[in-house]
Order: sequence, then structure tokens, then C-alpha cells
Amino acid sequence: MLTLGGKHFLIDCGISYRRLTEGLALEGLGTEDIEAVLITHTHTDHVSGLPVWFRQTGLRFIVPEMALRRIAVCMGGAALGSRLFSFVPGEDYALDGITFHPFPVEHDAPETVGFSFDDGTARFTYMTDLGAVDEWHMGFCSGADLVFLEANHEPELVEVSYYPQALKRRILGPRGHLSNEQALSLLGSLKRPPRKVLLGHLSEVNNSPGRVRERVEASGVPGMVSEVHIASQRKVTRVTI
Ligand SMILES: [Zn+2]
Ligand SMILES: [Zn+2]
Repeated sequence: MLTLGGKHFLIDCGISYRRLTEGLALEGLGTEDIEAVLITHTHTDHVSGLPVWFRQTGLRFIVPEMALRRIAVCMGGAALGSRLFSFVPGEDYALDGITFHPFPVEHDAPETVGFSFDDGTARFTYMTDLGAVDEWHMGFCSGADLVFLEANHEPELVEVSYYPQALKRRILGPRGHLSNEQALSLLGSLKRPPRKVLLGHLSEVNNSPGRVRERVEASGVPGMVSEVHIASQRKVTRVTI
């Protein structure tokens, strides 16, 4: 969950309705307190909860334009325009006093995006599920108050994993996922580092929080930013901007 300007947003919906409501309850919130759910792309680990969340709640969903038709068919046509909206990557949007800017990233799902949010006092960048970064992506991280960045795997663990060859190639390829080293080298090469960093989307097979922590400590990143956090797949990780 992202809270900016006193408003709460969710990014993606890859967990069950039960985990959603239990997680919100820990914060003293219900789904009615959430302004919108923003979707980065349509891989299952990011949208599997959508049909049930949609049925069980009054949540609004905002999805990449190319994914809209497919999602609308699953949800029933009536969803369109009432609780299901689309964005075009590269445009700016105003949402309840927050500006959000979806931008394309290289990943093997149609129209995958990262997000940059700004409430006038703080800037937050969210980038996960991408196989490569360029100067343009680095611009979204540069000088941000908080960056959520994927640190998905160790390449040598992927190589020796039980995964089929095609999946290994996919993960390691330019439209797959960022390794620990790629994430840290992106952060280390920023002329204007962010204030705080949250590393996430760790593979449970090919990575671990301990491995990421070791990599972080061996990098120059802790000397550049005030806080580095590692998001757990299993429990709530709370970072204040
Ligand atoms: Zn993913
Ligand atoms: Zn993905």
C-alpha cells in the first residue's frame, strides 16, 4: 500500500482477498479507505486477486490501456467506466490530489509500466518486473524521496535452479527481471541518489533477504542513501517517506 497526501493506494493485486483484508486491518483500514488499485502488468503474480477483489469490494482499478479490454472481458462489460479505467504509459494523471506518471519498462508482458508518484511534497518511484534499465528509467529514480526497486535474483542461482531452460532464459533476459547486482548498480550510478530505497520482488527460489543484505553491504549504496529496506514476501514492510 502507498499512502501519499493522506490518500491510500494499492499497486497490483497478486494476493488473495483474505490477505488483502488482513493486511489492511493491520493498518486499521478497510478496502473502502483505498482510493484506487493501479496495475503494472497482467502477469499472474500481479493480477491473480483481481476477479475476487472486484466482486467483493467497491475498489476502482486503473490498468494499462492495452490490458483494459482483456480485463474488462473477465470482469464483465459493466465494469468499464464505473470501476475499471485505463491509463496510457507516458502520460501524467491527477488522482485525488496526487500526480502519477506510468512509464513503460522492458518486460515480457504487454505494456508493463513503472510508476512515479508526486503529491507536491514527496516523490515515490515504483519499478518492478523489468529486464533492463536505461538513462530514462534512472531519471525517475534520481532524487526521489523513496524508490521501490526490484532485486529479483542471483543469476548463478537461476542457472542451477530446477526451472526449465526457457524460464531461466526469460528471467535472465533483457525483458525478464533485474538481478541484485543490476538493481544495486543502477542505484550506485545515480548522480542524485534517492533518499530511501526499498528492494523487493525477491525470488523465493533464486534469492533471499540475507543474500540481498550481503550484496547491499558490499555495495556503495548504503553510503549514498539514508535507508535501504528489503521487502519481505511474507510480512508487512513499512517505510515512511
Ligand atoms: Zn512479478
Ligand atoms: Zn511480470
